[in-house]
Amino acid sequence: AKSQGTGQAQLFRATMHRQAMERLQLEEELRRAVEGDELRLWYQPVVELESGRLTGFEALVRWLHPERGLVMPGGFIPLAEETGLIIPLGAWVLRRACRDLAAWQRDGYGGFSLSVNLSRAQVAQPGLVQTVRTILDESGCDPGRLVLEITESAIMANALQARETLEQLRALGPRLSMDDFGTGYSSLSYLHQFPIDVLKIDRSFVQRLEQGEEGEQMVATIITLGHSLGMKVVAEGVETPGQLAVLARLGCEYVQGFLYSQAVPRDQAGELLRAGVMS
Ligand code: C2E
Ligand code: CA
Ligand code: CA
Ligand code: CA
Repeated sequence: AKSQGTGQAQLFRATMHRQAMERLQLEEELRRAVEGDELRLWYQPVVELESGRLTGFEALVRWLHPERGLVMPGGFIPLAEETGLIIPLGAWVLRRACRDLAAWQRDGYGGFSLSVNLSRAQVAQPGLVQTVRTILDESGCDPGRLVLEITESAIMANALQARETLEQLRALGPRLSMDDFGTGYSSLSYLHQFPIDVLKIDRSFVQRLEQGEEGEQMVATIITLGHSLGMKVVAEGVETPGQLAVLARLGCEYVQGFLYSQAVPRDQAGELLRAGVMS
Protein backbone atom coordinates (compact mmCIF):
# COMPACT_ATOMS: atom_id res chain seq x y z
CA ALA A 1 0.00 0.00 0.00
CA LYS A 2 2.85 2.30 0.86
CA SER A 3 4.60 1.89 -2.47
CA GLN A 4 1.27 2.41 -4.25
CA GLY A 5 0.78 5.66 -2.36
CA THR A 6 4.22 6.81 -3.35
CA GLY A 7 3.46 5.88 -6.94
CA GLN A 8 0.30 7.96 -6.88
CA ALA A 9 2.18 10.87 -5.37
CA GLN A 10 4.76 10.60 -8.14
CA LEU A 11 2.05 10.46 -10.75
CA PHE A 12 0.40 13.48 -9.17
CA ARG A 13 3.68 15.41 -9.18
CA ALA A 14 4.31 14.41 -12.79
CA THR A 15 0.86 15.61 -13.81
CA MET A 16 1.32 18.88 -11.93
CA HIS A 17 4.68 19.31 -13.55
CA ARG A 18 3.29 18.67 -17.02
CA GLN A 19 0.42 21.12 -16.48
CA ALA A 20 2.81 23.78 -15.19
CA MET A 21 5.07 23.28 -18.20
CA GLU A 22 2.15 23.51 -20.63
CA ARG A 23 1.00 26.69 -18.97
CA LEU A 24 4.46 28.15 -19.12
CA GLN A 25 4.68 27.29 -22.80
CA LEU A 26 1.28 28.82 -23.51
CA GLU A 27 2.34 31.96 -21.67
CA GLU A 28 5.51 32.19 -23.77
CA GLU A 29 3.51 31.68 -26.95
CA LEU A 30 0.95 34.28 -25.93
CA ARG A 31 3.71 36.79 -25.21
CA ARG A 32 5.05 36.15 -28.69
CA ALA A 33 1.54 36.47 -30.16
CA VAL A 34 0.97 39.86 -28.56
CA GLU A 35 4.35 41.20 -29.71
CA GLY A 36 4.13 39.57 -33.11
CA ASP A 37 1.40 39.32 -35.69
CA GLU A 38 -0.81 36.47 -34.46
CA LEU A 39 -3.79 38.30 -32.98
CA ARG A 40 -6.82 39.24 -35.03
CA LEU A 41 -9.93 41.30 -34.34
CA TRP A 42 -13.21 39.91 -35.61
CA TYR A 43 -16.42 41.88 -35.65
CA GLN A 44 -19.92 40.82 -34.65
CA PRO A 45 -22.81 42.94 -35.97
CA VAL A 46 -25.12 44.82 -33.61
CA VAL A 47 -28.53 45.27 -35.20
CA GLU A 48 -31.29 47.80 -34.57
CA LEU A 49 -34.21 45.53 -33.81
CA GLU A 50 -37.00 47.56 -35.37
CA SER A 51 -35.34 48.30 -38.70
CA GLY A 52 -32.86 45.45 -39.12
CA ARG A 53 -30.21 48.09 -39.73
CA LEU A 54 -26.59 47.29 -38.93
CA THR A 55 -25.74 49.91 -36.29
CA GLY A 56 -22.45 48.68 -34.95
CA PHE A 57 -19.92 45.95 -34.31
CA GLU A 58 -18.43 44.38 -31.23
CA ALA A 59 -14.71 43.69 -31.63
CA LEU A 60 -13.78 40.19 -30.43
CA VAL A 61 -10.17 39.04 -30.32
CA ARG A 62 -8.91 35.78 -31.84
CA TRP A 63 -5.48 34.18 -31.79
CA LEU A 64 -4.27 32.76 -35.08
CA HIS A 65 -1.86 30.24 -33.61
CA PRO A 66 0.71 28.81 -36.06
CA GLU A 67 0.06 25.21 -34.91
CA ARG A 68 -3.19 25.24 -32.96
CA GLY A 69 -5.13 27.25 -35.52
CA LEU A 70 -7.84 29.70 -34.49
CA VAL A 71 -7.97 30.03 -30.69
CA MET A 72 -11.05 31.65 -29.13
CA PRO A 73 -10.69 34.19 -26.28
CA GLY A 74 -11.83 31.65 -23.68
CA GLY A 75 -8.57 29.81 -24.43
CA PHE A 76 -6.23 32.69 -23.61
CA ILE A 77 -7.94 35.74 -22.05
CA PRO A 78 -8.00 34.14 -18.55
CA LEU A 79 -4.25 33.39 -18.79
CA ALA A 80 -3.61 36.90 -20.13
CA GLU A 81 -5.42 38.28 -17.08
CA GLU A 82 -3.46 36.12 -14.62
CA THR A 83 -0.09 36.99 -16.14
CA GLY A 84 -0.63 40.69 -16.75
CA LEU A 85 -0.33 40.15 -20.51
CA ILE A 86 -3.88 41.51 -20.75
CA ILE A 87 -2.44 45.05 -20.50
CA PRO A 88 -0.40 44.96 -23.75
CA LEU A 89 -3.01 42.66 -25.34
CA GLY A 90 -5.81 45.07 -24.42
CA ALA A 91 -3.85 48.00 -25.82
CA TRP A 92 -3.31 46.07 -29.06
CA VAL A 93 -7.05 45.37 -29.31
CA LEU A 94 -7.95 49.02 -28.75
CA ARG A 95 -5.35 50.25 -31.27
CA ARG A 96 -6.47 47.76 -33.92
CA ALA A 97 -10.16 48.61 -33.35
CA CYS A 98 -9.59 52.38 -33.53
CA ARG A 99 -7.54 52.02 -36.72
CA ASP A 100 -10.22 49.89 -38.36
CA LEU A 101 -12.89 52.35 -37.23
CA ALA A 102 -10.90 55.28 -38.66
CA ALA A 103 -10.44 53.45 -41.99
CA TRP A 104 -14.16 52.67 -42.26
CA GLN A 105 -14.98 56.28 -41.39
CA ARG A 106 -12.63 57.49 -44.16
CA ASP A 107 -14.49 55.18 -46.57
CA GLY A 108 -17.69 57.04 -45.71
CA TYR A 109 -19.21 54.69 -43.11
CA GLY A 110 -19.50 57.14 -40.27
CA GLY A 111 -22.85 56.24 -38.78
CA PHE A 112 -22.10 53.12 -36.81
CA SER A 113 -20.38 52.42 -33.51
CA LEU A 114 -17.60 50.05 -32.57
CA SER A 115 -17.55 48.35 -29.18
CA VAL A 116 -14.35 47.17 -27.51
CA ASN A 117 -14.12 44.99 -24.40
CA LEU A 118 -12.03 46.16 -21.45
CA SER A 119 -11.04 43.54 -18.89
CA ARG A 120 -11.13 44.02 -15.15
CA ALA A 121 -7.33 44.32 -14.97
CA GLN A 122 -7.36 47.10 -17.56
CA VAL A 123 -10.00 49.04 -15.66
CA ALA A 124 -7.95 48.69 -12.46
CA GLN A 125 -4.74 49.85 -14.16
CA PRO A 126 -3.79 53.48 -13.42
CA GLY A 127 -2.48 54.09 -16.96
CA LEU A 128 -5.73 53.17 -18.75
CA VAL A 129 -7.08 56.66 -19.37
CA GLN A 130 -3.75 57.88 -20.79
CA THR A 131 -3.49 54.77 -23.00
CA VAL A 132 -6.97 55.33 -24.41
CA ARG A 133 -6.25 59.03 -24.99
CA THR A 134 -3.02 58.27 -26.89
CA ILE A 135 -4.61 55.54 -29.03
CA LEU A 136 -7.59 57.76 -29.89
CA ASP A 137 -5.26 60.60 -30.92
CA GLU A 138 -3.00 58.38 -33.01
CA SER A 139 -5.79 56.56 -34.84
CA GLY A 140 -7.72 59.63 -35.92
CA CYS A 141 -11.07 57.89 -35.41
CA ASP A 142 -14.15 59.75 -34.20
CA PRO A 143 -14.09 58.96 -30.43
CA GLY A 144 -17.85 59.48 -30.26
CA ARG A 145 -18.29 56.30 -32.29
CA LEU A 146 -16.28 54.15 -29.89
CA VAL A 147 -18.03 52.22 -27.14
CA LEU A 148 -16.08 50.72 -24.25
CA GLU A 149 -17.64 47.58 -22.76
CA ILE A 150 -16.94 46.93 -19.11
CA THR A 151 -18.40 44.02 -17.21
CA GLU A 152 -20.59 44.55 -14.24
CA SER A 153 -18.19 42.55 -12.05
CA ALA A 154 -15.16 44.65 -13.12
CA ILE A 155 -17.01 47.76 -12.03
CA MET A 156 -18.27 46.32 -8.77
CA ALA A 157 -14.86 44.88 -7.82
CA ASN A 158 -13.67 48.38 -7.07
CA ALA A 159 -16.65 50.66 -7.38
CA LEU A 160 -15.11 53.91 -6.15
CA GLN A 161 -12.04 53.80 -8.35
CA ALA A 162 -14.03 52.46 -11.29
CA ARG A 163 -16.45 55.36 -11.16
CA GLU A 164 -13.66 57.90 -11.46
CA THR A 165 -12.00 55.95 -14.26
CA LEU A 166 -15.27 55.66 -16.16
CA GLU A 167 -15.91 59.37 -15.86
CA GLN A 168 -12.45 60.16 -17.22
CA LEU A 169 -12.86 57.71 -20.08
CA ARG A 170 -16.21 59.16 -21.02
CA ALA A 171 -14.74 62.68 -21.03
CA LEU A 172 -12.48 61.50 -23.88
CA GLY A 173 -15.53 60.90 -26.09
CA PRO A 174 -16.41 57.18 -26.05
CA ARG A 175 -19.70 55.91 -24.71
CA LEU A 176 -19.70 53.25 -22.01
CA SER A 177 -21.54 49.99 -21.99
CA MET A 178 -22.15 47.64 -19.07
CA ASP A 179 -21.46 44.14 -20.32
CA ASP A 180 -22.96 40.87 -19.07
CA PHE A 181 -25.56 42.78 -17.09
CA GLY A 182 -27.43 40.66 -14.58
CA THR A 183 -24.58 38.26 -13.87
CA GLY A 184 -22.98 40.24 -11.03
CA TYR A 185 -24.52 41.49 -7.82
CA SER A 186 -25.72 44.73 -6.27
CA SER A 187 -26.23 45.95 -9.78
CA LEU A 188 -29.64 47.48 -9.30
CA SER A 189 -28.72 49.75 -6.44
CA TYR A 190 -25.40 50.85 -7.93
CA LEU A 191 -26.27 51.32 -11.55
CA HIS A 192 -27.36 54.95 -11.45
CA GLN A 193 -24.04 55.98 -9.88
CA PHE A 194 -22.04 55.15 -12.99
CA PRO A 195 -21.87 57.09 -16.26
CA ILE A 196 -23.20 54.18 -18.35
CA ASP A 197 -24.91 54.73 -21.73
CA VAL A 198 -25.74 51.18 -22.73
CA LEU A 199 -26.87 48.03 -20.90
CA LYS A 200 -26.04 44.66 -22.40
CA ILE A 201 -28.33 41.88 -21.24
CA ASP A 202 -26.29 38.73 -20.78
CA ARG A 203 -26.96 35.76 -23.05
CA SER A 204 -27.99 33.58 -20.11
CA PHE A 205 -31.13 35.74 -19.71
CA VAL A 206 -31.92 35.77 -23.41
CA GLN A 207 -31.75 31.96 -23.39
CA ARG A 208 -34.48 31.86 -20.76
CA LEU A 209 -36.85 33.97 -22.87
CA GLU A 210 -38.62 31.02 -24.44
CA GLN A 211 -38.65 28.96 -21.28
CA GLY A 212 -41.63 30.54 -19.62
CA GLU A 213 -43.05 33.56 -17.85
CA GLU A 214 -40.23 34.02 -15.36
CA GLY A 215 -37.44 34.47 -17.87
CA GLU A 216 -39.46 37.04 -19.72
CA GLN A 217 -40.26 38.93 -16.50
CA MET A 218 -36.57 39.14 -15.70
CA VAL A 219 -35.64 40.58 -19.09
CA ALA A 220 -38.60 42.98 -18.97
CA THR A 221 -37.35 44.27 -15.62
CA ILE A 222 -33.81 44.84 -16.93
CA ILE A 223 -35.09 46.69 -20.00
CA THR A 224 -37.37 48.90 -17.91
CA LEU A 225 -34.55 49.62 -15.50
CA GLY A 226 -32.17 50.59 -18.31
CA HIS A 227 -34.73 52.85 -19.95
CA SER A 228 -35.65 54.53 -16.68
CA LEU A 229 -31.97 55.50 -16.31
CA GLY A 230 -31.84 56.83 -19.88
CA MET A 231 -29.82 53.93 -21.25
CA LYS A 232 -30.10 52.00 -24.49
CA VAL A 233 -30.44 48.24 -24.17
CA VAL A 234 -28.69 45.56 -26.21
CA ALA A 235 -29.64 41.88 -25.94
CA GLU A 236 -26.73 39.49 -26.42
CA GLY A 237 -26.75 35.97 -27.77
CA VAL A 238 -30.03 36.16 -29.70
CA GLU A 239 -30.28 32.88 -31.58
CA THR A 240 -33.94 32.36 -32.47
CA PRO A 241 -36.79 34.32 -34.12
CA GLY A 242 -38.84 33.55 -30.99
CA GLN A 243 -36.36 35.34 -28.74
CA LEU A 244 -36.29 38.26 -31.17
CA ALA A 245 -40.09 38.53 -31.11
CA VAL A 246 -40.22 38.72 -27.32
CA LEU A 247 -37.41 41.30 -27.23
CA ALA A 248 -39.28 43.41 -29.80
CA ARG A 249 -42.43 43.26 -27.69
CA LEU A 250 -40.45 44.30 -24.59
CA GLY A 251 -38.98 47.34 -26.38
CA CYS A 252 -35.34 46.27 -26.56
CA GLU A 253 -33.54 48.55 -29.06
CA TYR A 254 -30.59 46.49 -30.22
CA VAL A 255 -29.74 42.83 -30.65
CA GLN A 256 -26.62 40.84 -31.24
CA GLY A 257 -26.37 37.11 -31.84
CA PHE A 258 -25.99 34.14 -34.13
CA LEU A 259 -29.52 34.73 -35.48
CA TYR A 260 -27.94 37.54 -37.50
CA SER A 261 -24.27 36.77 -37.56
CA GLN A 262 -21.27 35.46 -35.67
CA ALA A 263 -18.15 37.60 -35.46
CA VAL A 264 -16.50 37.84 -38.88
CA PRO A 265 -13.05 38.97 -40.13
CA ARG A 266 -12.56 42.65 -40.96
CA ASP A 267 -13.02 42.33 -44.75
CA GLN A 268 -16.33 40.55 -44.30
CA ALA A 269 -17.39 43.16 -41.75
CA GLY A 270 -16.67 45.81 -44.40
CA GLU A 271 -18.98 44.00 -46.82
CA LEU A 272 -21.74 43.96 -44.20
CA LEU A 273 -21.25 47.71 -43.75
CA ARG A 274 -21.72 48.22 -47.47
CA ALA A 275 -24.95 46.20 -47.41
CA GLY A 276 -26.15 48.18 -44.36
CA VAL A 277 -29.02 45.87 -43.42
CA MET A 278 -28.90 42.42 -41.83
CA SER A 279 -31.28 39.73 -42.97
P1 C2E B 1 -18.56 38.85 -24.38
O1 C2E B 1 -17.96 40.20 -24.29
O2 C2E B 1 -19.81 38.60 -23.60
O3 C2E B 1 -18.77 38.59 -25.94
C1 C2E B 1 -19.84 37.86 -26.47
C2 C2E B 1 -19.44 36.42 -26.74
O4 C2E B 1 -20.62 35.69 -27.07
C3 C2E B 1 -18.51 36.24 -27.95
O5 C2E B 1 -17.71 35.10 -27.71
C4 C2E B 1 -19.50 35.97 -29.07
O6 C2E B 1 -18.93 35.30 -30.17
C5 C2E B 1 -20.50 35.12 -28.35
N1 C2E B 1 -21.82 35.16 -28.98
C6 C2E B 1 -22.38 36.19 -29.65
N2 C2E B 1 -23.61 35.88 -30.08
C7 C2E B 1 -23.85 34.62 -29.66
C8 C2E B 1 -24.97 33.71 -29.80
O7 C2E B 1 -26.00 34.02 -30.39
N3 C2E B 1 -24.83 32.49 -29.21
C9 C2E B 1 -23.70 32.11 -28.56
N4 C2E B 1 -23.66 30.88 -28.06
N5 C2E B 1 -22.65 32.92 -28.41
C10 C2E B 1 -22.71 34.16 -28.95
P2 C2E B 1 -16.13 35.10 -27.86
O8 C2E B 1 -15.71 35.89 -29.06
O9 C2E B 1 -15.68 33.69 -27.73
O10 C2E B 1 -15.66 35.93 -26.59
C11 C2E B 1 -15.86 35.44 -25.29
C12 C2E B 1 -15.50 36.45 -24.25
O11 C2E B 1 -14.10 36.74 -24.30
C13 C2E B 1 -16.19 37.79 -24.44
O12 C2E B 1 -17.50 37.72 -23.93
C14 C2E B 1 -15.28 38.69 -23.65
O13 C2E B 1 -15.55 38.60 -22.28
C15 C2E B 1 -13.92 38.08 -23.91
N6 C2E B 1 -13.25 38.83 -24.98
C16 C2E B 1 -13.35 38.71 -26.31
N7 C2E B 1 -12.58 39.61 -26.95
C17 C2E B 1 -11.99 40.34 -25.98
C18 C2E B 1 -11.06 41.45 -25.99
O14 C2E B 1 -10.65 41.96 -27.03
N8 C2E B 1 -10.67 41.94 -24.76
C19 C2E B 1 -11.12 41.39 -23.60
N9 C2E B 1 -10.69 41.93 -22.44
N10 C2E B 1 -11.99 40.38 -23.56
C20 C2E B 1 -12.41 39.85 -24.73
CA1 CA C 1 -18.67 42.25 -24.59
CA1 CA D 1 -21.31 40.16 -22.95
CA1 CA E 1 -20.56 37.14 -21.72
